[in-house]
Amino acid sequence: MLTHGLGCCRTPSGDIPEHWPSRTSVYGGLGPTRCLCDIARVGADYPKVELHVHLESTMRPELLLQLAQRNDCPLPASTLAGLARFCVATSFGDLGRIWLEVTKVLRHEQDFGDVLLSYAREATRQGAVYVEAIFNPIIHQRRGVDMDAVFSGYCDGAQKAREEYGLEVRLTPDADLWFSAAEAEELARYAVAYRERGVVGFGVSGADYRDSPAPFVRASQIARDGGLAFTPHAGEFGGADLVRFAVEQLHASRIRHGLGAIEDPGLLKEIAEAGIGLDICPISNVRLGAIPTLAEHPLPVFISAGIRCSISSDDPAFLDTDLTRNCDAASSLGVSPRTLFEAGVAGALCDDATRARVAEIGAAFDWSRIEPSAWT
Ligand SMILES: [Zn+2]
Repeated sequence: MLTHGLGCCRTPSGDIPEHWPSRTSVYGGLGPTRCLCDIARVGADYPKVELHVHLESTMRPELLLQLAQRNDCPLPASTLAGLARFCVATSFGDLGRIWLEVTKVLRHEQDFGDVLLSYAREATRQGAVYVEAIFNPIIHQRRGVDMDAVFSGYCDGAQKAREEYGLEVRLTPDADLWFSAAEAEELARYAVAYRERGVVGFGVSGADYRDSPAPFVRASQIARDGGLAFTPHAGEFGGADLVRFAVEQLHASRIRHGLGAIEDPGLLKEIAEAGIGLDICPISNVRLGAIPTLAEHPLPVFISAGIRCSISSDDPAFLDTDLTRNCDAASSLGVSPRTLFEAGVAGALCDDATRARVAEIGAAFDWSRIEPSAWT
């Protein structure tokens, strides 16, 4: 079996979420390491759909240095190697600190477009044919960047991605759970205003074991009334109660992660019957300690329960990962690349014509070249 040699079996540096008891009852306690060394490489290019990637977390060191120089904005390191060392998160706290530090380089409309186009190049090389990308505009606004510059920059980048790479990119801005309800509601209105330029959803993200999504009910309503889907993070670290809240109170179309649902078989059934997809990011879940080891990931249980699960990279530049590695991790758990692709197509929030074009790419691909019969 080929393995990625990810430099794994690291001992985590700490910052384990406090909201853990119910999850440990499921997983039997957090192990001493977060092992990813048993990921088998599929060993072939195949089409992929990615529905959960944070654009600001795709900035590799080369792009960060370029933006830092252009905007005369110093970073914590001034070399590629130094930045690569800085941008490694082994906990959710790490991830937040890195994110806040490096996103300071994003100042102007063109910067956001460049971030999107750079990721479109990376994703296309890995076989992505459709991407739904998240961005978190409120922090940029608090730093003095005009909200329209953030939206316009990303929307321009999506247009260029289509022209230069043939990649379809749709956008889903997130409000951070630690910002105010008023800020989230203003963001929801902006998201609706940019619907014609490729914004298809609106969500919330943050430390779900600490910050409640309850104040965001109205923001989710504004987005849904404006024709957007609501796609919240829920149950990444928190339990089934938070996933249930996202389903019942926030009327989620898809749920980002949703791992906490594993505690509640009735909820799994509800999610499956409602056709709510889960955005699964296996390497992120292990790297950040949401799941002790890849072998214990609930993905196979979710699929057995009839839930559509797509695979994404979440924060690839800060988690030493990419889309292919995440898909390979899912395949190591016995899930076929074709199943993942079809779940992505079904969960995508684009228009029907685009969905049909993406589905055709999958239908035309010879999956038998890469799929052993053991995969589901
Ligand atoms: Zn995420």
